[in-house]
Amino acid sequence: MTHTIQAPVLIIGAGPVGLVLAKELARHGVRSMLIERNLETTRWPKMDITNCRSMELLRRLGLDQRLRQVGVPTQYSFDVLFATGLDGHQITRWDLPSPDRWQQRIAATNDGTLPQVAYQRCSQEVFEAWMKQLCVDDPLIDVRAGWRFDALTQDDDGVTATVTDTVNGQTQQIRAQYLVGCDGGASAVRKSIGIALQGHAAPRRARQVHFKSRDLTALHRHGQFWHIFFTTPATIIAQDEVDTWTIQRYFPPEFDPSGLDSEEVITGALGKKIAVDKILVSSVWQPQLLLADRYVAGRVILAGDSAHQNIPTGGYGMNTGTGDATDIGWMLAALVQGWGGTGLLQAYEDERRPVAERNVARSERHANMHVRWRARMNETLVHAATPEGAAHRAELAAFIQQERGENEEHGIELGYRYAQSAVIHHEGGAAPHWEHRNYVPTTWPGGRPPSVHLADGSDLFDRLGAQFTLVDFSAGAASAGANALRNAAKARGLPLHYLQLNDPHARGLWERDLVLVRPDQHVAWRGNAAPADALALMDQVRGMRMA
Ligand SMILES: Cc1cc2nc3c(=O)[nH]c(=O)nc-3n(C[C@H](O)[C@H](O)[C@H](O)COP(=O)(O)OP(=O)(O)OC[C@H]3O[C@@H](n4cnc5c(N)ncnc54)[C@H](O)[C@@H]3O)c2cc1C
Repeated sequence: MTHTIQAPVLIIGAGPVGLVLAKELARHGVRSMLIERNLETTRWPKMDITNCRSMELLRRLGLDQRLRQVGVPTQYSFDVLFATGLDGHQITRWDLPSPDRWQQRIAATNDGTLPQVAYQRCSQEVFEAWMKQLCVDDPLIDVRAGWRFDALTQDDDGVTATVTDTVNGQTQQIRAQYLVGCDGGASAVRKSIGIALQGHAAPRRARQVHFKSRDLTALHRHGQFWHIFFTTPATIIAQDEVDTWTIQRYFPPEFDPSGLDSEEVITGALGKKIAVDKILVSSVWQPQLLLADRYVAGRVILAGDSAHQNIPTGGYGMNTGTGDATDIGWMLAALVQGWGGTGLLQAYEDERRPVAERNVARSERHANMHVRWRARMNETLVHAATPEGAAHRAELAAFIQQERGENEEHGIELGYRYAQSAVIHHEGGAAPHWEHRNYVPTTWPGGRPPSVHLADGSDLFDRLGAQFTLVDFSAGAASAGANALRNAAKARGLPLHYLQLNDPHARGLWERDLVLVRPDQHVAWRGNAAPADALALMDQVRGMRMA
């Protein structure tokens, strides 16, 4: 029997991106229905770093500390090692501080260069199970596990999706104002709206083996680690600092490693046999570098891996998707609540697609670094316990250190600016300097402003509202400019939180007396006085008028 269910926003796919989007919508008071074809969350570890920007975004949802409780304990480092084998030589180490060490550094630094909060290790297997329960418990989110999206039609007023209950085979129709395809790389939503992907596969295949072992004497021979890259070529990932590990062993694309025995893959990768308690799952996969031509078709939107796919090096997959979910989340809330215009949908594509394009390319650069250091390697000399062997390893170490960048590029993770967006009030002149490695503090419109600890002990980011915030640094005096902007927001129905701050240090870093910050913490506009036409500004930032 077919019947129709109504939902303001229908999300297809309860992977990390669909789950974050549902929570983002709920934060804005918008109901959503979340359709997931599988009854259970993933058993694959996949994503293991939630980067600092995603942690900032999750903090807005009140979830950063809760993620730390289910993730890897925060005293453990993210150190990445390079070695010839578990019993072999350590070539070098990237010292990536634990979240605890990062938090100390963040607390002691107030120049706006650092994130508000540190990154966090958490396997996707844990992340999804945790987030799904939060969504199930949220009265604004209707989670339907075991429901598969099959097809859609759309008209001027909404989208009708056909879904099948995989348990009883019944077909249902769901009518929504907007539908978001968070259904991963093979996205049926993307195919149903005819959007193509451009790009290519990485020239290698990986056989991954996810397993349990308590053989820490062998596994920690080089000390505690997050990842070890071996000369084999292979990588081991510590998933929980207890007993859960994943091996990725790489092969040429023409070789199919699916017939290899899992324990032999582990031994081959590590260069020695260890005590394996249990093989959890194993599979063959090929990394992809792909970007969708468009993100939006009418009322149907793509977010996460349905719109972009990258090599996991650098951790840009789920993290880029979290940015997508945050952006489209507030925009859909604005549309559903009637204070936003359809210009927001084009803006979403114009904002997020260039970010994904850069992150996909950056993931390839990081992955190639591993190809390049192994290509410089002399297979015999690298293992030799001789002065010549040591000299060769030192040479490789110098190259690996010179080329580092994975998981420590704050310019990429925090510093992206929405330069092509029509709902940002752009300024004339040259944009401030930008670099991969470091976040350059600026409130240049389109970017994330600097995180600052205020003199009263609070963090400026924690003082921002759920909707737009007008931050007013005009020395505590009633600001005529602020009043003009507040009146304009009120006249246009744009929900605005007014934050008056008397904090000269923060004012210096935020560069203007008045800064209009969006719900996703990006700067929409700034100035020392109200713009000539405050109403026009409000129309622009809510997508009613394209600049
Ligand atoms: C080895 C590895 C390591 C990685 N490490 C990192 C990392 O450290 N950091 C990082 O950010 N990213 C990492 N990634 C990438 C990350 O896993 C993906 O980017 C992320 O899973 C994308 O999330 P998503 O929600 O967009 O899609 P998915 O996780 O693919 O979720 C899509 C969901 O949609 C459901 N679905 C699909 N079709 C339908 C349908 N027709 N109807 C209903 N439901 C449907 C699926 O069952 C699934 O639950 C890694 C990936 C791999 C493979």
